[in-house]
Formats: sequence, structure tokens, C-alpha cells
Amino acid sequence: IGKGEIVFEDVTFKYKNNTNKSIFANKSLVIEGGQKVGLVGFSGSGKTTFAKLILRLFDLESGNILIDNQNIATVSIQSLRDNVTFIPQEPYLFNRTIRENIAYNNPDATFEEVKSAAKLARCDDFIKTMANGYDTIVGERGSLLSGGQKQRLMIARSILKNTPIVIMDEATSALDTVTEEKIKQGLDYISKGKTTLVIAHRLSTLADMDRILVFHNGKVVEDGTHKDLLKNGKHYKKLWQMQNEGYLPD
Ligand code: ADP
Ligand code: MG
Repeated sequence: IGKGEIVFEDVTFKYKNNTNKSIFANKSLVIEGGQKVGLVGFSGSGKTTFAKLILRLFDLESGNILIDNQNIATVSIQSLRDNVTFIPQEPYLFNRTIRENIAYNNPDATFEEVKSAAKLARCDDFIKTMANGYDTIVGERGSLLSGGQKQRLMIARSILKNTPIVIMDEATSALDTVTEEKIKQGLDYISKGKTTLVIAHRLSTLADMDRILVFHNGKVVEDGTHKDLLKNGKHYKKLWQMQNEGYLPD
């Protein structure tokens, strides 16, 4: 892929085990290459599903998803996953060393590269305190680490993977606001010059995005910048006020 443009053409999708109704019905949408897009909306509104469809974790009922004019249904899964980084809501770590977990997608990475990714993701401070440093085994699904530490390792892994398209699904949800602020440098590094989709619960973290898509029951009900949506949006404005209630100056 080149610029990493993502196009949804009349996409209809529903989960096979969920007979009720389509999550997406005839959705069409263009995300320009290099655009930074925030995805917001209540839980269950379809944000994660939207991301997973781009990774072709499920097949569409009808319609197409194109990346740089290539239909993702016809490219190899391997090539797709090599070009798209997905940081899921639930970190997935293996019962291996910290170093191996960070280098999971890049087994040939040098130790220096692993360390510099860890530094950008603010992992180095907690790795230093661990019994065997980078050679510490993280336990079954990372059981020896806190939720925030696991998320930072996932971010370090993604920094190393370095693909034209990056999708983060609540990738910093377990971090306190101070750590989240510190990690911004790492996230900026991951997304620099890349098409970036960021699903986030905390709206304030998305204020700098080029564009925000507001999901509601599988529909994108609002689409614009933070400023636009605060001014002209209904749904976004309500979400914003709910989160910032009491903090807004009169
Ligand atoms: P969000 O990420 O916005 O919280 P999701 O995309 O996870 O929302 O979910 C959208 C809808 O799809 C919800 O109604 C959810 O219950 C349903 N859903 C999500 N994953 C599955 C699945 N694997 N099988 C069946 N239904 C699912
Ligand atoms: Mg989700």
C-alpha cells in the first residue's frame, strides 16, 4: 500500500450468530490516506466492529472495503495484516520474555530497536524494576503485569511494527492521565504520516484529530472536527458535556 486510503463502499454487515439486525447497513465512507480519525460513541455502537472489518476478521454481507483501491477481500490476509497494525481493547501477550513480546511482529529487530520502542512507549521505567529486565517472562497472558503495563507493551510492539495504517482500540484505557500524557510522544511516533484510527472513550484525547466519527447503533451519526462537532453536533456535544460536566467554565 501507498498512502493508506480506506474506503467503505455500501458495506452491510451483521454477526452470523446475531440474527437480529445488521450492525452496518449500506455504509459508505472515505478515510483519506494519512488522516487521523477518532471513533467515539457509546459501548456497543459498532466502533470495534468497524475496525475489525478493516482487518477482515469477518466477511461482509455485501459491499466492499478498499485500501488504496485494492479490495481487501481479494488480497492475502498476511499482506493485509502486515500493513495494518491493530492494538485491540484487550492486550494479548504471550508467556515469553518482555523482549520477545515487543518484537513479536519483528523477530529480526535488534535489542537496540526493541529498547528504543520500549522507551517511546514509556515501558523502560517498569522494565528496569523487573527481576530480569527485558528477559523477564511476563506470565500467562501477561499476568505479572498491570493493565497499564500490558497496554504500554502493546504500544511498544506497534511502534516496532511501523505500518502505513494503525488502528488503536482503547489502547490507553488502563493508563492514568499522567502516563497517558507521557506516552503521547510514542503515539505521535506510531501515527506520524500514517492513516490512524483511534477509538477512545476519553474524548479529550481526540481533540487534535483531523476528524471524528460519532457512532450510534452502527451508524456514523456525526462526522467532523472536534470544534465543528462541539458547535454543530448534537450527539458529540452531549457526550462531551457528560464527560466534562463540572469542568466547563460556566
Ligand atoms: P463498540 O466497540 O462500539 O463498543 P462493538 O463493535 O464491539 O461496539 O459491538 C457492536 C455490536 O455488535 C454490539 O451490539 C455487540 O453486542 C455486537 N457484537 C460485537 N462482537 C460480536 C460478536 N463477536 N458476535 C456477535 N455480536 C457481536
Ligand atoms: Mg469496542
